[in-house]
Amino acid sequence: MRTVTVVGASLSGLYAARELRAQGFDGRLVVVGEEPHRPYDRPPLSKDFLTGRADEDRLALADDEETAALDAEWLLGTRARSLDARGRTVLLDDGRTVSTDGVVLATGASARRLPGDSLVGVHTLRTLDDARALRDELAGGPRRVVVIGGGFIGAETASSCAGLGHTVTVVEAAPLPLVPHLGPEMAAVCAALHRRGGVGLVTGTGVAGLRGTVSVTGVALSDGRVLPADTVIVGIGAAPNTGWLAGSALALHDGVLCDDGCVTALPQVVAVGDVARVGGSRAEHWTSATEQPRVAVANLLAGRTRETVRSLPYFWSDQYGARIQFAGRRQAGDSVRLTEGDLTDGAPADGGFLALYERDGRTTAVLSVDRPRPFMRARRELTRDASRVGSATR
Ligand SMILES: Cc1cc2nc3c(=O)[nH]c(=O)nc-3n(C[C@H](O)[C@H](O)[C@H](O)COP(=O)(O)OP(=O)(O)OC[C@H]3O[C@@H](n4cnc5c(N)ncnc54)[C@H](O)[C@@H]3O)c2cc1C
Repeated sequence: MRTVTVVGASLSGLYAARELRAQGFDGRLVVVGEEPHRPYDRPPLSKDFLTGRADEDRLALADDEETAALDAEWLLGTRARSLDARGRTVLLDDGRTVSTDGVVLATGASARRLPGDSLVGVHTLRTLDDARALRDELAGGPRRVVVIGGGFIGAETASSCAGLGHTVTVVEAAPLPLVPHLGPEMAAVCAALHRRGGVGLVTGTGVAGLRGTVSVTGVALSDGRVLPADTVIVGIGAAPNTGWLAGSALALHDGVLCDDGCVTALPQVVAVGDVARVGGSRAEHWTSATEQPRVAVANLLAGRTRETVRSLPYFWSDQYGARIQFAGRRQAGDSVRLTEGDLTDGAPADGGFLALYERDGRTTAVLSVDRPRPFMRARRELTRDASRVGSATR
């Protein structure tokens, strides 16, 4: 291959560029990014960046020396608009075209929006620019903040806003937040964290609309109540950025469909990170976005699927001073039991806990709050067991 184009200049795109060079690709490397920024890390945006404990320098994923060593052409602040049917030309929004032999799709996901969210004071939190705008607004004095959506980003943002002294309410349409991720028992533990952190939690009620003419003044709930608000954060999930690939001959369905090795319907096109549906599932986790590029690039350079992604899903979240870590593949109906630590009034007791999810006598997943070492041990065992089961069934 003479030219490889990475579309998406963020986490998985940077890791793909690194892998291309590490695996011996010495041709022309083009990285196209819609955002004007060099690759930066998103997890701090809802945590230390929002609270002012980390500044922008801490977000950079590569320093000048590494960036130079990658010897890539960075086309930043421009979107890829389309990919030709055989995946050999990338057309950019600014009219330029890039002829290429291989493509790494790393376009991630975008925050889902609500109707009326262009009112002043309404925010989403996905990009550095989003986080700057929210951080500036929160610095202007005490505000009534309503967070719509009790997922991980909603919960982290609520926690950060409460830590800054704002009055915060989280609205969640489901009876409990995070049930699809953690199951009802552990979701209830996370709900208790909100209450302990002084944050109101309104559950089982959808949002009917936003109130206000120029600036937001409140959030109308489907049960008729209106929560007064000066700042609203819409945290209702993210959608994979695949719109630009319509008509490209790639299979798209909640992400770019790939085999277990991140290879799409076209062997010269691979996909990684939040945009990639790898072997039937799509993760929105930092660790997947950093692990998939090694395999994807090996397969891209080989021209076929030679390796597959083996790692178990893993993510972490920091909220209300607690570190939550989860690994594995939990399914609805798995039982869960604490193997270390305890709960107080439904929330983690001092020192946190470790919990195992089980099905048919086997551990399927592990969750911990503030027990990083036992968690890492349990995660290693789970990974070992999963690869043993995998090789026994192959
Ligand atoms: C606020 C926040 C907090 C998070 N916290 C955690 C955490 O604690 N733990 C955890 O495991 N994960 C966390 N995540 C998730 C993690 O950050 C993502 O999984 C990771 O960023 C995915 O990386 P990516 O490279 O696939 O996509 P992205 O980071 O979304 O990057 C994709 C890039 O592609 C660009 N792009 C899109 N379309 C085009 C186009 N057509 N042409 C050119 N460029 C394009 C986008 O502008 C973007 O810059 C968090 C995410 C956010 C937003």
